[in-house]
Amino acid sequence: MNHTYNPYDNVLKVVSEAANILGYTDSDIEALKYPERELKVAIPVRMDDGSTKVFEGYRIQHSTSRGPAKGGIRFHPDVNLDEVKALAAWMTFKCAVVNIPYGGGKGGVVCDPNKLTEDEIRAITRRFTAAIAPLIGPEQDIPAPDVGTNAAVMGWMMDTYSMLKGHCVHGVVTGKPIELGGALGRSEATGRGVMFTTKNVLKKLDIDPKNTTVAIQGMGNVGSITAKLLHREGMEVVAVSDVSGGIYKESGLNIPDILDYLSQNRKNLLTGYEEDGMTRISNAELLELDVKVLIPAALENQINDSNAERVRADIIVEAANGPIASEADDILAEKGILVVPDILANAGGVVVSYFEWVQNIQSVSWTEETVNEKLKNIMDPAFEAVWDIAHKNKGTLRTGAYLIAVKRVVEAKKARAIWP
Ligand code: GLU
Repeated sequence: MNHTYNPYDNVLKVVSEAANILGYTDSDIEALKYPERELKVAIPVRMDDGSTKVFEGYRIQHSTSRGPAKGGIRFHPDVNLDEVKALAAWMTFKCAVVNIPYGGGKGGVVCDPNKLTEDEIRAITRRFTAAIAPLIGPEQDIPAPDVGTNAAVMGWMMDTYSMLKGHCVHGVVTGKPIELGGALGRSEATGRGVMFTTKNVLKKLDIDPKNTTVAIQGMGNVGSITAKLLHREGMEVVAVSDVSGGIYKESGLNIPDILDYLSQNRKNLLTGYEEDGMTRISNAELLELDVKVLIPAALENQINDSNAERVRADIIVEAANGPIASEADDILAEKGILVVPDILANAGGVVVSYFEWVQNIQSVSWTEETVNEKLKNIMDPAFEAVWDIAHKNKGTLRTGAYLIAVKRVVEAKKARAIWP
């Protein structure tokens, strides 16, 4: 593991690279290096055993040049300031590459939801929401789910914010329960976008999805939906993993069975799952499998200079945010491995969040078919645009995505000019 890993430095590096190619001056991009607002909060909570515990939380708005800040809330023990800053900046460029009218933000609480009861998670959520309430709102900053949070947490956030305002404010968060104005299709949207992207890249390379081998790291919302949809498309998902480790089967795993098993209990892990012909592997081994497509769908910095040399997949689709550290990008490019970057590949979630917000502020609701079709109509052209510019520029798809995104953000900033 590289000990000096700072995800925010990774973002700045790729942004500067794109800005150079675009011919922007230092002044043009200087402000992009600094998040607009960083809020750190203390969250006292009465635990179930009667004790009081204080959790730390953050909400960071990286940019609001193109619209309100937008981005998820992470509940995880490793949450820290540099991680949230990087996640917020990635949101800025993600929203820009798919051209939805948002800036970027992110939040997080240092806690382990697997070791908390539902009452404790709800208490953390409510007090955290109250603490960040001065920053958020449907026109300022709109949170959503991320690692460790889900629709229920968004429902409590929406309720807390609405109670503080004295009236119902649906549009303050996205990824809500359907009963509270959540969008049909939102819970599957990130995985669906990863599926569209994977199919798009295979098509470009003239590879038939049928029986194409895939390994997926992470069985949270994104990994599990990606596995479900790729399996449905006829792809051979040969390996999956979660925090407890992974499983591998050369002829393809029974994905519907695995998802069924995992869904029966929030705390179920793959260690308890059995299937004929499967073997147990570690997360590190999964990343080094000889598969056509590798999909890291867990956390940052999974592929770095300590293991990039051993990666054998032909294509990596980044379903997580920042799973490849920047020094690994160069190693993978030299090995001829094609990387579809996170800000494009996993943008499906925030795109459908945008649809949810649009429906909320207009008080209308769309069918799931409409949502899925509109999602495809954004993901496919965005992929084409990134592919084209990357080829014109003879660079990676990551650089291509940032060429598009940085240009949109800088041009918006320039058009607004510096106030006062
Ligand atoms: N947390 C998701 C992401 O990283 C979704 C953000 C959103 O919907 O606002 O893209």
